[in-house]
Amino acid sequence: MNIIFFGAPGAGKGTQAEIVSKKLGIPTVSTGNMIREAIKNGTDMGKSAKSYIDAGSLVPDEVVIGIIKDRLDKDDCENGFILDGFPRTIPQAEALEKMGVKIDVVLNIEVSDDAIIRRMSGRRTCLKCGATYHVDYNPSKTEGICDNCGAELTVRKDDDPEVVKNRLTVYHNETEPLKDFYSKKGLLKTVIGQEELSDTTKLTAEALGIED
Ligand code: ADP
Ligand code: ZN
Repeated sequence: MNIIFFGAPGAGKGTQAEIVSKKLGIPTVSTGNMIREAIKNGTDMGKSAKSYIDAGSLVPDEVVIGIIKDRLDKDDCENGFILDGFPRTIPQAEALEKMGVKIDVVLNIEVSDDAIIRRMSGRRTCLKCGATYHVDYNPSKTEGICDNCGAELTVRKDDDPEVVKNRLTVYHNETEPLKDFYSKKGLLKTVIGQEELSDTTKLTAEALGIED
């Protein structure tokens, strides 16, 4: 199954994508995590992407399309994958089609802007493995330490409230039109993001037909 997790920044798509990834045994492909990894490693791509990310803008289409192409070619994507944070623009979605990638479902997690701004302030991210937590809604077992890999958790620069507002504007202008794009293809399924993470997980599993 090839799934796209779709939603505003902070809607919880990364968290839900990880859960479904474990359930189905298919990898999550997160452009945000791959870009942050490149920045951390100081690669050329990372260097050119840093200013965009820090400002809450989108990294240019050619760059992310290149990353995705290389990643989806890897063997572990053969039996399915979850895209988290890609596509984010119509040209990105068109590029995916041109690559011959078949999408089975686009799962849209709907959350209001107000709730997103509240959530982002408590978000903590593991730069080593990409896991995300929230100090209230989804805390790590030990404060400040990643459950998965033991690395230290950090606050992302782009989770700063002013930057979050910019990211929401970018989302509404450039990314939200994709709802229409995929809805016309009959692929869009919408879940209303809940206050409780596990409630969203349940609705997500129902929407994808993977309840156990
Ligand atoms: P969130 O879903 O919380 O916005 P991500 O980790 O998905 O966080 O993305 C963080 C940043 O990485 C974005 O604000 C953007 O600058 C960059 N980015 C990630 N994916 C893409 C993409 N598909 N196209 C352009 N930029 C991207
Ligand atoms: Zn980790």
